[in-house]
Amino acid sequence: MSGSNNSQATIVKLKRQLADMQKSYAKSSELISSLGEAVVVTNEYGKIEIVNELCGQILGYKLNVLIGKRYLAVIKAVNEDGSLVEPMDRAITRAFLNGSAVTERACYLTSRNTAIPVAINVSPFIFNNVPIGAIEVFRDLTDEITREQIQSEFIALASHQLRTPLSAINTYAQMLSGGYAGKLNNRQTNFVSVIESSTLRMNELIHSLLNVTRLEAGSINVDIIPVDINELCAGVINSLTSLADDKAVDIKLEACPISDIDTDPVLLRELINNLIANSIKYTPHGGSVIVKVEIQDRVIISVCDNGFGIPELAKDYIFSKFYRAKNAVKHDVSGTGLGLYLAKQIADRLEGDIWFDSEVGVGTTFYFSLPVVGSAKKQGRFRLEVPKL
Ligand code: ADP
Repeated sequence: MSGSNNSQATIVKLKRQLADMQKSYAKSSELISSLGEAVVVTNEYGKIEIVNELCGQILGYKLNVLIGKRYLAVIKAVNEDGSLVEPMDRAITRAFLNGSAVTERACYLTSRNTAIPVAINVSPFIFNNVPIGAIEVFRDLTDEITREQIQSEFIALASHQLRTPLSAINTYAQMLSGGYAGKLNNRQTNFVSVIESSTLRMNELIHSLLNVTRLEAGSINVDIIPVDINELCAGVINSLTSLADDKAVDIKLEACPISDIDTDPVLLRELINNLIANSIKYTPHGGSVIVKVEIQDRVIISVCDNGFGIPELAKDYIFSKFYRAKNAVKHDVSGTGLGLYLAKQIADRLEGDIWFDSEVGVGTTFYFSLPVVGSAKKQGRFRLEVPKL
């Protein structure tokens, strides 16, 4: 009697467990089908067990065509030359063999034999140290790649088409002021000098906007070489001498004996140039700027001025795109509000940190720090552009 009670209880328990498993299976299936990315789940033999609608839509197959088939037989990947990727080179095979997740870009063949770019992540299911299946999540990159191409074309077009007329205006303005079209009277000289300075500002704006676009596309090259930081700072100061001389701002470099740091000199120069140019711009006539290179647990470059300072209310926004503090506008200093935004983007790209201390009427110090081991090389689609006219 008690034996039959026991088996009755076991059956009830098993039924409950089965119901729970069915419920969690239904929930997982619901979750997988509602995901915004394509999902394929395979068993230990590489056969497809679960696949969601989006996967079917992207590859152009009905779900029942995929389920139960060998993954490698129905989901085919092609190389750039159109040849099929070998099974051993497929992400799912490597994830299975190595027992760890694989993330990569690939090209999948649809049912109509068209190749579509995809971003894949495959993770093996491991049980008792043995892979018993895999889950792959992938998304169609066609729109993303088209957007990237449009962006690249825009940058190429803008650099050329906006700059060509501007450099013609600049050249002719310089010829006028140089007297090549006859001597100018005072009024004419003033007009030409406004044309010249406006072209320079316009060029600066185009330069910053294009670099912002490149950096925002996350696609700036980071090309690493050993860089003498003291020399780089000295070079930037030298290139800004006429800006400083116009305002009688004294700039000093406090160098420090450090070995070369592996970093990208073009990106670093742009960043340091923005900080030093700002310190001159936002310091009144006769002020002073100290550029200091130090080495602690990181390399620190600081730019300290005794200028207008940054108001408390502006401090949270100073690295935002197009932001300019009220006192900068009040002192009639020209600018785009893009320099520090760019500097912050570059700092991130170089694995650096950027921050500042400032007090209105006392001055401002901007700091930039880099790891002593330098920055890592990164492959992108563009180079940062240095200003030219
Ligand atoms: P801008 O082209 O206006 O100089 P930035 O992005 O380089 O643009 O700087 C943003 C704002 O930060 C400036 O407009 C100014 O208000 C403030 N700023 C930057 N550097 C300094 C500085 N050294 N002293 C005071 N204010 C500064």
